[in-house]
Amino acid sequence: MNIKDNVKFGEGIISGYTSVFLGILSFLGVFCFKYPEWLTTPEFRNVYTGESMKILLTAVIIASLFFGVISFIRSSKKKWALYGMAFCVLAIVLGGFDVSPRSVNITKVHLGLDWLILDLFLMAIIFVPIEIVFPKRKNQPTFHEEWKTDLVYFVVSHLLVQFFGVITQQPAKLFFGWMGLEGIQNFVQDQPVLIQLFFAFFISDLFQYWTHRIFHRHTFLWRFHSIHHSTENMDWLAGSRTHFVDIFVTRSMAFVPLYVLGFSTITFNIYVIFMAIHAVLIHSNTRINFGVLKYIFATPQYHHWHHCKDSEYYGKNFATIFPFIDRLFGTYYLPDNVWPEDTGLLEVDFPKGYVKQAVYPFTKSPFDNDLNMEEYSKSTR
Ligand SMILES: [Zn+2]
Ligand SMILES: [Zn+2]
Repeated sequence: MNIKDNVKFGEGIISGYTSVFLGILSFLGVFCFKYPEWLTTPEFRNVYTGESMKILLTAVIIASLFFGVISFIRSSKKKWALYGMAFCVLAIVLGGFDVSPRSVNITKVHLGLDWLILDLFLMAIIFVPIEIVFPKRKNQPTFHEEWKTDLVYFVVSHLLVQFFGVITQQPAKLFFGWMGLEGIQNFVQDQPVLIQLFFAFFISDLFQYWTHRIFHRHTFLWRFHSIHHSTENMDWLAGSRTHFVDIFVTRSMAFVPLYVLGFSTITFNIYVIFMAIHAVLIHSNTRINFGVLKYIFATPQYHHWHHCKDSEYYGKNFATIFPFIDRLFGTYYLPDNVWPEDTGLLEVDFPKGYVKQAVYPFTKSPFDNDLNMEEYSKSTR
């Protein structure tokens, strides 16, 4: 098997990290039970039950302790095992084995800590093993030099899920809310779910495609989107690195057709869940290529080309879901089994860290064009 170079099985290292990861999640999970009004999201609470989360919390604490013990026995570095078990003990002392789910009053503001914990847990258990067993870049460590920055992006976007949800819906409501849309929305909701799903994905991807392309084309906008392209290490966390202006504009635009057409709740929920998982998948460091499906849906190979560092390939593969949209507009690039050699930007002085990257796009004159991809592309060819 062609597993990652830096992963050593049987030395207690992986179990140590697993123990810390699960220990921290269970420690945070206890707070969701203690202060659900402030730390959990009403939409997400409708999806799970308090009882099932209680069982999950107990299982995660036990798993963390288990991995902690394994690591303590096997590893020469005992500190990860000790950290992991320390978080477990804290979770237990705070009442982790004895939480009581209860009905929750709706509050005006809340953080999406439940969404953060569950999505991080799920994405990590799906994608970390995939990246270890089927890596694209074998020598890229799981904990590369910027993983903490990417994690901060992930944490911020999940904790502020209510804020981002509300602000990205405003433009659609403002511009189209006054129209009588019931007729068209009833017609759309009467269609079979599969038809609705196709149109939800297709039309929102069309909107997303052009927004994305304009972000690349326009110098001022590019400075915000370039943050997303600054990652040198493509992996499951890298896709989270998106400037908040980029998130606001892109999601607002993709939401317009969803809002106007008013798809059924089930269609909308499938859309949201698929997009969340798919966005992580296309950035992940895996060589899995999905056979002929790669010509129908955007895959890691497809999106990695969009992140290619070589300026020759800038401006390809803007679509998020459907490659045929790129074919339609002449920006498609997917060679058989060839992958880009490097991902990232030629910009050498790109700032590192969440706060610096949040400020960076505002610090340059809107009239300079030193980050324009097309200029770049011509000058370096
Ligand atoms: Zn882009
Ligand atoms: Zn990307």
